[in-house]
Order: sequence, then structure tokens, then C-alpha cells
Amino acid sequence: MTTTIRHHVSDRLLMAYAAGTLPEAFSLVLATHLSLCDECRARLGEYEALGGQVLERSDLAMAEGSLEACLARIEGLAPVARPQPRRAHGVFPAPLAKYVGGGPEKVKWRPLGMGVRQAILPTARGATARLLYIPAGQAVPDHGHRGTELTLVLQGAFADSTDRFGRGDLEIADEDLEHTPIAEAGEDCICLAATDAPLRFNALIPRLLQPVFRI
Ligand code: ZN
Ligand code: ZN
Repeated sequence: MTTTIRHHVSDRLLMAYAAGTLPEAFSLVLATHLSLCDECRARLGEYEALGGQVLERSDLAMAEGSLEACLARIEGLAPVARPQPRRAHGVFPAPLAKYVGGGPEKVKWRPLGMGVRQAILPTARGATARLLYIPAGQAVPDHGHRGTELTLVLQGAFADSTDRFGRGDLEIADEDLEHTPIAEAGEDCICLAATDAPLRFNALIPRLLQPVFRI
């Protein structure tokens, strides 16, 4: 299957990912995009090389002491485990498959109404990661964002007022965007999404259900 990814990780996010400063849920979405995207993997390599150079030149690495002591100090600085991008197989690329323990059939989906289903993935606090299953042709209720929302398409496609997003595409939404994502006809859409603040729903029912669904 050939896919053309048109929506990529921003420089700011990629740098934060390389530095290991992102919440786990965001790192998971980026690792999953990176495992599908040669272009962003190459960009990440450049940032990591740059980071290595900075470290080499810093007083830290020049400090007196054994190599071991030096490595131990670097290790102490090392970011918390971030999911590593690896090559993709099937609908769920490796970093995601590891969280789920397999593919979509392993997911414990919970209904959100209108045929839309979600599964919240266990990640550290600070941001929430969820899988969304949107039947072909179905819309997600119109909403705004209080923080950042990353949405990565894994199967099918969706469109909103900004563009169309297919497999591998990453939508980065913030406070300025209000949207109603609609799954494309033909194939049910599966997305991996991460948010660091609750969404802002415009309709009453989704708003009432928000605490229940942790959206
Ligand atoms: Zn990319
Ligand atoms: Zn959104």
C-alpha cells in the first residue's frame, strides 16, 4: 500500500520529541507518525545529531572523570522513555501495537454514540491518548480546543474545514481551530488522538457526556 503523507509534525513538536519533553500521549502519537513517515524520521535524525553535538561540546561531556561517570550523568539527563519509531506493519504501527498488545481487534472499544467508538490508552498524566473509530460517512460532534489536539489517521480518512487527512496524516489543532471532522465514505476511519486539555463541544449532549468519556 502506498500512501502519500501530506500533514507532518511541526518543527516545534519534533524538537520537543527529540528532547524528550513531551507528555507520553503526544510522544506516542509522534512515534506512530514517525514510523509511517520517512520524511519526519529524517528530520528527527537531524535534530538528534544536533542534540548530540551540543552535548559533546558542553562542559558536561568535557568534565573531568571517567567515561562511565560521564555516561551516567548523561543517562541521568536522558528523557523519560519515549516510544521509539519503528517500521509499520498492519493498521497499527509498532509503537502503537505495543500499547494495545496487537491490532484493532485487541482494542476494548467503548461506544460514544452515533457509531463512534473510543478507547483510552494508558499513558502518564499530562495528556490523554485515545483511539477513535468513526464509521464511514459519520461526523464527530463539532468542537473547539482548549489546548493542543494531535490526530493521526491510521485507517480510512477524514476531512474538516481545513483539509483532508488520510493514513499517516497528522492534524495539529489548537485553540484557534473549531472543526467537525467527518469520516470519508467507503472505509471506517481509525485515528489515534492525544489532547492535553478537554475539548470544547458546542452541542449540549456531548458536553454533558464529556466527564464520562474523558474527552
Ligand atoms: Zn511526517
Ligand atoms: Zn478536534
